[in-house]
Amino acid sequence: MSEVRRKLVAGNWKMNGDRALLNTFIEQLNVPQSADVLLCLPYPYLGLASQNKFSIGAQDCSEHEKGAHTGDVSLQMLQDLSVEYVIIGHSERRQDHNESNAVVAKKMANALSSNIKPILCIGEPLEVRENGDVFAYVQAQLDAVLAQCGDAFFEKLTTIAYEPIWAIGTGKTATPEQAQEVHGFIREYLTQKNAKASQMRLLYGGSLNASNATALLAQKDIDGGLIGGASLKIDDFNVICQAAS
Ligand code: PEP
Repeated sequence: MSEVRRKLVAGNWKMNGDRALLNTFIEQLNVPQSADVLLCLPYPYLGLASQNKFSIGAQDCSEHEKGAHTGDVSLQMLQDLSVEYVIIGHSERRQDHNESNAVVAKKMANALSSNIKPILCIGEPLEVRENGDVFAYVQAQLDAVLAQCGDAFFEKLTTIAYEPIWAIGTGKTATPEQAQEVHGFIREYLTQKNAKASQMRLLYGGSLNASNATALLAQKDIDGGLIGGASLKIDDFNVICQAAS
């Protein structure tokens, strides 16, 4: 099976940015021909972002279809805004909103039966890395989603982001070797279950920036990045997009 996977550079603005910054990105983002670029925006900006340069994603969705869930946003609503991707299971959602593996799995199953492409986020806290339990930890995160989603996991899931929590927003990036080691594990674990996983895009996230992008994105099983802080600076983000091309 072909190992050629097109890279994806995905920005995650988190609860940052404003309408002016969005306009700057629409005007000044240089999307390379050989990679895909995505911005995951705060909900209020999703409806203002339609253009043909880059894809648009949300940062979360409700696990419910509709109903009395004040403040939540459904997949159907995102579809109405022509949103193409949704991040699911980001560690900040898992921490700030107590999202368990079970909730993440339910959101994933819903998203995989919609027209929106989920990006499943997994990754370990520092103490797990220090105890040498990284593979078991990410495997458990994957197993919860695999158990809930069944065949749809391999039939429809295109993108997983490995984001070690100790590297998110801390300026402490995983070395290219550390990141590749976990990406290689994820690829092998999933490919043993279904050969289609050889085509899944595995993104690295955790203080990826304009200086370290080239080395990280050159790794065999790193197919792009999920980028927080550096996705708020147009010049840095353009450098990262170039590094992916
Ligand atoms: C993220 O938000 O997923 C992320 C990786 O953030 P940062 O790049 O700021 O570490």
